[in-house]
Amino acid sequence: MRSSPRSVAVRFILFLAWLAAVVSLPVPGSASAYSGRPKLIVVIVIDQFRGDYLERYRDQFGDAGFRLLLDHGAYFPNCNYNYANTHTAPGHATLFTGAYSNGHGIVANEYWDQKKKRMVTSVEDDDTKMVGVAGDKSGDKAGASPHNLLADTLGDELKLATQGKSRVFGVSLKDRAAVLPGGFAADAAYWIEPKSGAWITSTYYRNELPRWVQDFNSTRPAKYWDRDWKGAQGMLLRSTAHRKAKNGEDAGFYEVIGPTTFGNEYELEFARELIVYENVGRGPATDLLAISLSPNDILGHQVGPDSPEMQQMALDLDHQLADFFNFLGHQIGLADVWIALSADHGVSSLPDAVKKLHIPAANLGAAKLEAQINGALTAKFSPGHPTAYVKLDYPLAWLDQDAFAAAHVKEHDAEGAVGEAMKQAGLRDYYTKSQLAEGEVPDTALGRKYLNSYSPEGGWYVMGVPDFYTVGPSTGTDHASPYTYDTHVPLAFYGLPFQPGTYRTSAEPADLAPTLASLLGINAPTHSVGRVLTEALSPPHRGTNSGTNSGEGQP
Ligand SMILES: [Zn+2]
Repeated sequence: MRSSPRSVAVRFILFLAWLAAVVSLPVPGSASAYSGRPKLIVVIVIDQFRGDYLERYRDQFGDAGFRLLLDHGAYFPNCNYNYANTHTAPGHATLFTGAYSNGHGIVANEYWDQKKKRMVTSVEDDDTKMVGVAGDKSGDKAGASPHNLLADTLGDELKLATQGKSRVFGVSLKDRAAVLPGGFAADAAYWIEPKSGAWITSTYYRNELPRWVQDFNSTRPAKYWDRDWKGAQGMLLRSTAHRKAKNGEDAGFYEVIGPTTFGNEYELEFARELIVYENVGRGPATDLLAISLSPNDILGHQVGPDSPEMQQMALDLDHQLADFFNFLGHQIGLADVWIALSADHGVSSLPDAVKKLHIPAANLGAAKLEAQINGALTAKFSPGHPTAYVKLDYPLAWLDQDAFAAAHVKEHDAEGAVGEAMKQAGLRDYYTKSQLAEGEVPDTALGRKYLNSYSPEGGWYVMGVPDFYTVGPSTGTDHASPYTYDTHVPLAFYGLPFQPGTYRTSAEPADLAPTLASLLGINAPTHSVGRVLTEALSPPHRGTNSGTNSGEGQP
């Protein structure tokens, strides 16, 4: 039986009315265009938090922390970065742009600056100054901004869609993890001055710290010194007593409090103050707060993922998140909040622990490796004149273009020679920047990961392919490989539009921004390549192709 065009039209109008009712579509001319959206989206990024941790500790978590998302939200246990450069800066950029390095341009935490002849950070910006750095250091230090981003972010699109009414904030102990998530239009990004622990920002955002930040800095950091962090059965894990650093100076806040559970507490305390004093989640449009919790990474490099300290940090964080979610409930109401959880990268097990199981692994000692590579290049291009041709940021090598120019070697040949020297020194393989720029990679899963890692920024470079469980530092452990232990991270969402359940379909961190953008009815970030995770959406939001990818939802 065929419907008449008229009844089709009537049904279509009824459908639109129903859709408008369930998702509160913007009504032209109405001031409440965003009334169906949440008041606040909080994205929690745990720095160096592997995807398997949530499964490992699930039985030991309480009901209101991680399990708010695991039991009452949409949880994707098979979420992997589809690129090779699993570092903090690219990871945060990916989560908020929905793109990889070949879209957002952030290829590493630090780049070789050919003009300055030194490494610069991915957010360092000479056109800005630090704000809030005390003493004589103030004013002469370059500030930070997202100027290296080649794509916009979820926060930027939220700002565009609301003509600036949405407010966007980024918070982290690390500058890059506060700046990149916020994007270009963020109201503020706050991170800490490593020595004092004071929260600072840059003139990119504002010329002085708000009163509430100044007050926080004058009283709170002191509370975090001289504490004992205890684990199971009262075992002392770490103390935050004042101590000397390796160089003989007093060790700073980042070094002492950073690798303890108190670092997470400190960040969440600051986030609560920000929400209260900036009235976050109480404005006319949806606000976005990105909180990147750094302590897991600072500690994880030292002790590895299987240590009692890392276990305790995860269990403590579970309590800290429960308190924070409870605060959001009182302050804003959880029905008006969406929460997303992920990580910027995972980490390798400690190579010594891997070797005990007869699995190949190594702590290479990158300084030795760098010397070896420069030695091979010297023998080839300037025998008898030892030259630093590369700066190794294992497994990536930055090339000093001037050194190669002096030897009359052009980019293509220079990168090829560096790659061969890296292979001789023990790396499994390599991809040069010129090769990636031309898209000349094998049509394999690994080849595509390196293609996604390419950025036109950063001068000449070569990406070495490391052996698995083979890390750069001579002690401890690291990330930065294309392997699952570095690419596997959690992805989970809590909020009304999400259908609670565990979805074992493949997901990527790049899916976070486009999924949230779609639910908000706004454009995805400019270079987004992620997929909208339709299988995890509650029925009113299901699109025509829902179900094609359905996981094992547990309604
Ligand atoms: Zn790290």
